[in-house]
Amino acid sequence: MLKAAPQAAPRSRRELGALDAVVVGAGPNGLAAAVTLAQAGRSVLVLEARDTVGGGTRTAELTLPGFRHDVCSAIHPFSTASPFFESVGLELELIEPPAALAHPLDDGSAVLARGSVEETASGLGADAQAYARLFAPLVNAWEGLRHDVLGPVAHLPRHPIALARFGLTALRSARGVAESRFGTEHARALFAGAAAHSFLPLEQAAGASFGLVLLLLAHVSGWPFPRGGSQAIADALAARLLSLGGQVETGRKVSSLSELPPSRLVLCDVTPRQLLELAGDALPQRYGRRLGRWRYGPGVFKVDYALDGSIPWRTPEVAEAGTVHLGGSLAEIAVSERDAWEGRHAERPFVLLAQQTLFDDTRAPAGKHTAWAYCHVPNGSTFDMRERIEAQIERFAPGFRDRILACSTRNTAELEHENPNLIGGDISGGANVLAQFVRRPAFRPSPYSTPLPWLYLCSASTPPGGGVHGMCGHLAARSALARG
Ligand SMILES: Cc1cc2nc3c(=O)[nH]c(=O)nc-3n(C[C@H](O)[C@H](O)[C@H](O)COP(=O)(O)OP(=O)(O)OC[C@H]3O[C@@H](n4cnc5c(N)ncnc54)[C@H](O)[C@@H]3O)c2cc1C
Repeated sequence: MLKAAPQAAPRSRRELGALDAVVVGAGPNGLAAAVTLAQAGRSVLVLEARDTVGGGTRTAELTLPGFRHDVCSAIHPFSTASPFFESVGLELELIEPPAALAHPLDDGSAVLARGSVEETASGLGADAQAYARLFAPLVNAWEGLRHDVLGPVAHLPRHPIALARFGLTALRSARGVAESRFGTEHARALFAGAAAHSFLPLEQAAGASFGLVLLLLAHVSGWPFPRGGSQAIADALAARLLSLGGQVETGRKVSSLSELPPSRLVLCDVTPRQLLELAGDALPQRYGRRLGRWRYGPGVFKVDYALDGSIPWRTPEVAEAGTVHLGGSLAEIAVSERDAWEGRHAERPFVLLAQQTLFDDTRAPAGKHTAWAYCHVPNGSTFDMRERIEAQIERFAPGFRDRILACSTRNTAELEHENPNLIGGDISGGANVLAQFVRRPAFRPSPYSTPLPWLYLCSASTPPGGGVHGMCGHLAARSALARG
């Protein structure tokens, strides 16, 4: 029935089903959608292609026995900030390193983003006041702002004045904000590194929003990670779902919506291209064309290391942070990000590195360590960036290579093979260009809904976008519940 021509697509699956809802995909958003539905008393079945739940939040022994690596997400700035995670109260032990982020520079110094604006500003020399002027008002407004920032962009804001003030800066390019607000290399590099999480060239509109939100989160809720690995987040969500009577079936790859068990609602934790494939010609052509035009961003090349000791940073303070940005100055990061965006492989890539074992002794044998790192590459790249990533680590931590016991790498094709949502290695569910920020993935009263009243999209391709916060799934489920 689901493969019928658009005009024949069923308006309702109510009459069909014993189940209230089926969710395709057990990433954090699929699980969040299922938990939200189950909390509202609905019967839910989650179908997951892989043998374990989690999608982008999984942990595995990728190198040697006893070394547990985060396969995808490692650091979770959105976890404590997420209204959904807060409301669901997951059984999780989150670890908060003394500093969220360290950004070493070639002169042997390092900038650190710490818990408070004042502490962070005090490390920024001549830019101390400028940093405080930018972030202190945002910290004060955060409690009201977070529901607007972590919700759909095109909605009626709860705090319009605070949001408008935030938006005026957020919609600018990262380079524009960094160079107009700060005079020192240090503050500019710190902001550029945080903004580069957007995968956008630093000169592109709206890239500043990532710099603002990520540094703001360092001050309001930190950049924590779960003890034992990011899998703990998925496991806690799945446990909550089961406790509410929901069901999860792993090892069940869905090829077409027509093969799903009968249900009143279907929520898909997939990206637009996959939804098109799953729905066949059941979707109206106009909406299908809109999904077909969805643009994916650059991919990532991922490396996991088993190490004989901790990373020998030239600047000792770097060991205070869970996350390290290796890319030098704003100008250098700008070249790296533009290269990936325009289809080139950066000679000196901007590298995002996590060193969880400095603060979590459950992930490696005594005295040993792990390191997690990736850099941005062109979408679909199969080029091996390991050498270039290691050169960047070695640049700020001479002797790093001597500590490597084993290493595991994943190019964009291997990432997509493991998780079909990572189209061409894009980890954000679609490029973060301004148009897709506002229209994610289509202009509709509810961006989660589709023209089929029983079918919803609930992945990171919907607002508020990538990252482990569960808000896409939670808001999609609420939207479906509101429709009755
Ligand atoms: C290398 C990497 C590093 C990252 N680092 C971070 C980080 O440090 N912090 C952070 O916050 N975020 C990070 N992310 C992003 C984060 O993981 C994602 O934004 C998040 O997981 C998106 O959640 P999701 O539920 O939308 O999709 P996913 O987590 O991708 O889950 C989708 C699930 O659906 C399943 N699926 C897809 N198609 C089908 C099908 N046809 N049938 C059945 N099942 C299907 C997949 O197997 C998968 O389990 C990273 C991602 C990657 C890949």
